[in-house]
Amino acid sequence: MTTKLILLGTSSPRVEPDKVQTSFLIIVNGCLYMIDCGSGAHERLVQALAKYGDGLESIHMNHLFLTHMHPDHTLNIPSILIAPWQLGRESAVNIWGPAGTQEMVNHILEAYKIGTEELRLYGPRIREHISAPVNPITEGLFFEDENIKFEAFKVDHGNLEAYAFRATTADKVIFFSGDTCPVEVIEKEAQGCDILVMEAYCQAGMSNVPERWQWYFGKVHTSGIEVGEMAAKANPKLVVLNHQMCYSGTTDADLMQEVRDGGYAGELVSGKDLQIFE
Ligand SMILES: [Zn+2]
Ligand SMILES: [Zn+2]
Repeated sequence: MTTKLILLGTSSPRVEPDKVQTSFLIIVNGCLYMIDCGSGAHERLVQALAKYGDGLESIHMNHLFLTHMHPDHTLNIPSILIAPWQLGRESAVNIWGPAGTQEMVNHILEAYKIGTEELRLYGPRIREHISAPVNPITEGLFFEDENIKFEAFKVDHGNLEAYAFRATTADKVIFFSGDTCPVEVIEKEAQGCDILVMEAYCQAGMSNVPERWQWYFGKVHTSGIEVGEMAAKANPKLVVLNHQMCYSGTTDADLMQEVRDGGYAGELVSGKDLQIFE
């Protein structure tokens, strides 16, 4: 069976009419693995499964991997945890994340407690507490089952603990950059992979944004030109841009041109929500 990669959300903090915040889904052998969970990810998960899921439903999603703790990668976690539980789900959503993930999950469950406790005690059926075990991410191999293995590589995203992931299945190697500035580990560890899912901002779009933004983007994100330079060295079979930040009226086409200018000549796609690669 072939591995499917679906882009659930491809945007950055900015939610757009046709793009929600960052999230990806891998489907392999009827199992679902979600990477990041920004605002809108739950709805996109339901849409993706209706379209490509072969009968799978969102309650079957019980593996969530978080690259880092920025809200545009985590805002929809309450929905993923609570809505299926409200409908009777008893199994756990297992979460792998950086330090602080357990605390965030505790706070989420606490924040919704008035409503969830009422449902648990007086709802149409007696329910277990919401189960969301949190597992730490360590560098290197941190998760493996019969379908897939996940390896983590530390990247450079400001002051946060942040990771790139390499997901390996029987037929695909998919590398997720997470949010990061250019780092050598991606050039090395994404070497020859099938799909490099890479964050990118349009350098040309920085011309009209405030200086503090320019400084910040240069420090913690990767420009189209830098993506081109990195991808030329990593030589993946396909680069999928996501988390595209095109300001000052620039477009996806400008961003893709920057990747070309950076020296990458291989297959290139600017990712859109609900796009599938299989
Ligand atoms: Zn982000
Ligand atoms: Zn971030």
